[in-house]
Amino acid sequence: MKNYDVTIVGAGPGGIFTAYELSKVAPELKVAIIEYGNPLEKRKCPIDGEKITKCISCKTCAIMNGFGGAGAFSDGKYNITNDFGGTLYEHIGKKKALELMHYVDDINVEYGGAATKLYSTASSKIKTDCIRNGLHLLDAKVRHLGTDINYEVLGNLFKYLKEKVDIYFNTEVKSVKKTDEGYECVTDSEVFASKYCIISAGRSGSKWMEKVSSELGIETISNRVDIGVRVELPSEVFNHITDELYEGKIVFRTSKYQDRVRTFCMNPKGLVVNENTNGIITVNGHSYEDPQKQTENTNFALLVSKHFTEPFKDSNGYGESIARLSNMLGGGVIIQRFGDLIRGKRSTPGRIESSFITPTLKATPGDLSLVMPKRILDDIIEMIYALDKIAPGTANDETLLYGVEVKFYNMELKLDENLETRHKGLFVIGDCSGVTHSLSHASASGVYVARYISENL
Ligand SMILES: Cc1cc2nc3c(=O)[nH]c(=O)nc-3n(C[C@H](O)[C@H](O)[C@H](O)COP(=O)(O)OP(=O)(O)OC[C@H]3O[C@@H](n4cnc5c(N)ncnc54)[C@H](O)[C@@H]3O)c2cc1C
Repeated sequence: MKNYDVTIVGAGPGGIFTAYELSKVAPELKVAIIEYGNPLEKRKCPIDGEKITKCISCKTCAIMNGFGGAGAFSDGKYNITNDFGGTLYEHIGKKKALELMHYVDDINVEYGGAATKLYSTASSKIKTDCIRNGLHLLDAKVRHLGTDINYEVLGNLFKYLKEKVDIYFNTEVKSVKKTDEGYECVTDSEVFASKYCIISAGRSGSKWMEKVSSELGIETISNRVDIGVRVELPSEVFNHITDELYEGKIVFRTSKYQDRVRTFCMNPKGLVVNENTNGIITVNGHSYEDPQKQTENTNFALLVSKHFTEPFKDSNGYGESIARLSNMLGGGVIIQRFGDLIRGKRSTPGRIESSFITPTLKATPGDLSLVMPKRILDDIIEMIYALDKIAPGTANDETLLYGVEVKFYNMELKLDENLETRHKGLFVIGDCSGVTHSLSHASASGVYVARYISENL
């Protein structure tokens, strides 16, 4: 049995910022972080595109698990906004949420991000262009660290934290038990006892979190999944938006079904990449701050949210089934030219190769209409034509669509205004709470809980 004042499950942004803040506001506390994956420098995905082209289901996924969490190789876009990225403000208030996101930004700048840029939508002409064309640009500031600087910042935070807290890698918490004194995190070989327990298991820990919630009688409330494609086109098509904003979060209501479609995770001069969730290959994107590593293409996702009501409960299962279909037909991610999709034709390797756009991800040419539900595909096509009005060229025949992109959400847990469960001293933060879906919200939720604990010691 190991005894601590606070145990933190997961070393993603939520866990890291909880530990960081505790070291500042309550340095007397003995804190442990228990992390399923590897330290940062040992996180290497074996897929090299040559010898290993497909996921070989490693014990822990280098992309999703380990120090830095799912965010370690991300684009490092820290969006400072209450308009998207989570609903932390519903618990702690809009002003506090923004203040904490700014605080997280200050730390990222201090730990290596000083040379990066903070973009803002404030008084942008692009907003007017959007409104005139039935599109809506969401308000945000965004710090783009880039995959390279994000990695550097995490490395520096690790150097700081390893002197202040005990970090256990390759250690999976199997269960969380409530005791008279607090909580026990049970692993295969040890038990970590503490008065306070903060769970920050992220998206990869979503199924485990559901199990823990049901064992501890914590109610879950919502049920959502986002499904769509990743669009890749020449960077010139969007550079008037990305040069000014880096990322434009644009929302559109379709006329056919009145559904909301949104752009998500825009990566100027970036790369489209595979993402592995529980062995299912979906698509994602990122980009580098270093001009040497940039490409000629910009990519972003177009997503449609599906909310389910009773009796259906497994929204993630629905998204997984659609992704599995693309994996079945394409052996992984499918790529299709927009022109081929519109004409009801499968894209062929020949047509992709003879295109003027060079795909940045090796994917199987195919037909997305055999994979995506009609309603979602219709929504996406309508949005592409709408975007073409503010960024002419979006609806060109050669625009590439990769599918499927799925954004899985954790079941939202019933938490109070301090992100505390019905059990005193047990907090759930970050993406596994269902409250946050982004780096900045997850990090801010950690800072909030650390301060709350220190104030209530
Ligand atoms: C490829 C990619 C790109 C992204 N790009 C961006 C971006 O640019 N901007 C943005 O805002 N968001 C981005 N995101 C999302 C962002 O990474 C997440 O919102 C964020 O990492 C959530 O932080 P978290 O701490 O809640 O969880 P995570 O980062 O998922 O960390 C959870 C950690 O808990 C560990 N864990 C899980 N279960 C257990 C257990 N039982 N025992 C011990 N440890 C456990 C996991 O191994 C993991 O390391 C991206 C995600 C991906 C995958």
